[in-house]
Amino acid sequence: MNLDVTWAKAWITTGAAVMNEHRVELINLDREIGDGDHGENMDRGFQAVLLKLDDLPAEANPGDVFKLVATTLISTVGGAAGPLYGTAFLKAAVAVTGSAELDGAALVALLTAARDGIVLRGKAESGDKTMVDAWTPAVDAADAARAGGADGPAILAAAAAAAEAGAEATEPWVARKGRASYLGERAIGHRDPGAQSSALLLRAAADTAAG
Ligand code: ADP
Ligand code: MG
Ligand code: MG
Repeated sequence: MNLDVTWAKAWITTGAAVMNEHRVELINLDREIGDGDHGENMDRGFQAVLLKLDDLPAEANPGDVFKLVATTLISTVGGAAGPLYGTAFLKAAVAVTGSAELDGAALVALLTAARDGIVLRGKAESGDKTMVDAWTPAVDAADAARAGGADGPAILAAAAAAAEAGAEATEPWVARKGRASYLGERAIGHRDPGAQSSALLLRAAADTAAG
């Protein structure tokens, strides 16, 4: 589909359904290396977004959707993930402000701004075993796909696949940021929950774009 406000709403609506479906999986990942609330945090935040999505004016742009997601996640999701995802969506919204439809360059700008927002907020580097390890490969893959002439849906598909691989790659690592960093070597063998939720969210973006 065209990557317009209808897509942005479809992405977030599907994202909310996916967070709800994967609630227990994310809780269990966070139980292994955190405090067990990540699935609950994400589900609560996205359900709150869903309730507000219909209130957007008819002439809203994708950036307006992302701004709504940002403010809602910041106010409803406790813990680390709320401010991190909130900042990601806020920066993404700014990156595409005023655009009614997003082309490949705008998508890369959106993903880059989201990742940069997470890094600005949380100061994690690649390899620290955080959601950054899903977002940075996604940004790189999106950029490479765009450079290779891919269209918007194909760019998002490349980003989602890279985020999934990035989340999986966190499994053997020690964490250097967030609660999991308190565990030292006991974090080894467990996937980072925030990287996993990020991969799920980007998969929802790609799936809705392909539809
Ligand atoms: P909390 O740890 O406060 O309970 P969540 O469980 O909702 O919050 O989110 C945990 C996730 O947040 C981690 O799996 C990790 O991906 C991410 N995270 C934590 N700290 C940082 C950070 N400084 N930078 C990037 N991501 C982080
Ligand atoms: Mg937690
Ligand atoms: Mg918590």
